[in-house]
Amino acid sequence: MATEPLVPPLHLSAVYKIKGLDQVDALYGGEQSGYIYARDGHPNASQLAAKVASLEGAEAALVCASGMGAEAAPLLALLGSGDHIALSEGVYGRTSVLVNELSRYGVTHSTFDPTSPESLQDALTGKTRVVFAETLSNPLLRLADLPGLAEVAREAGATFLVDHTFAPLLCRPIALGADAVTHSATKLIGGHADLTQGVLAGSRELVTRAGSLASTFGMTGNPFESWLALRGLSTLALRVERTSTTALELAGRLERVNQVYAVHYPGLAVHPDHVRARSLLGTKFGAMLTFDLGSRAAADRFIRTLEHIPFAPSLGDVSTTLSHPVTTSHRSFTPERAAALGITPGLIRLSVGLEDPADLWADLSQALEDLK
Ligand code: PLP
Repeated sequence: MATEPLVPPLHLSAVYKIKGLDQVDALYGGEQSGYIYARDGHPNASQLAAKVASLEGAEAALVCASGMGAEAAPLLALLGSGDHIALSEGVYGRTSVLVNELSRYGVTHSTFDPTSPESLQDALTGKTRVVFAETLSNPLLRLADLPGLAEVAREAGATFLVDHTFAPLLCRPIALGADAVTHSATKLIGGHADLTQGVLAGSRELVTRAGSLASTFGMTGNPFESWLALRGLSTLALRVERTSTTALELAGRLERVNQVYAVHYPGLAVHPDHVRARSLLGTKFGAMLTFDLGSRAAADRFIRTLEHIPFAPSLGDVSTTLSHPVTTSHRSFTPERAAALGITPGLIRLSVGLEDPADLWADLSQALEDLK
């Protein structure tokens, strides 16, 4: 063919044709590069991995079947019986569940405040092999002190993993000292709420080891969703720019509404991590914005009164969605634990999309008006 497609083709083949026994030896021996079996690798995953690795400044990346797979694979690679993981408070609920599950395999854990390297220092044991934090916590959007945590982890000889799902492009954790980054590509990387994938980006050594485990445990990503995620990635920078601007505007407006008890957005001067956000993130603070309507009843009424913004417990879509953390992502928390973390029944988490900010405000303000 004299021409090539502009858009990367979708390679659905589950297996690849091999020319003979010398080639099969060369492929398995690594002297020749090529695909053999799609669970171990395929062109669409390689293309996505290369893009995410370059975006994160990592040597290599691995595409997994979900964000949870991208967390589980490096944890399986790095931890064994007797080891310890330091886990930041307020991580995605299923991440806590995953770390709890590891206790059945002899891996213990303790938690630390991601805004305080001293708190991480206190959580370490002589057996800490992994430190795991999220750049922006869910749902209160506390910004981890990534450079400070990285220093403590490095001194302890632990691998520092950062779940960067909420903050792609806002900063680059590896440049700030993290060893590896995980993403739920289901969210902002995909950007259209139509795929489920995850990506791990880090050293070639970690990615290779995690990749082998991911294939063995059946956690690698499929071609079509890799293809979709790669397409999503091509508009990520524009989406981050636009949604950050809109979210900052909405956060400022919400702050002035009496029915809103608190607004959590790192771009606001009142946010406890605003100074760090200015230094680590600069001028863009992301699409996620949380506010408190004071009670479960008010949150429920608000959700029902909204005309355009749906209650859809995910994030990162081109259109604005909302979630109610206490009944969804943090459902497994006891009321006492949720209250201790400041996760109150009136919290609404908005994932801001690409709509006209005036249209979004019209919907939000009519539902807030109804709460008067
Ligand atoms: N990390 C964070 C911060 C998330 O919000 C989620 C999902 O909501 C995940 C990881 C897991 O991603 P996935 O649903 O793609 O497995």
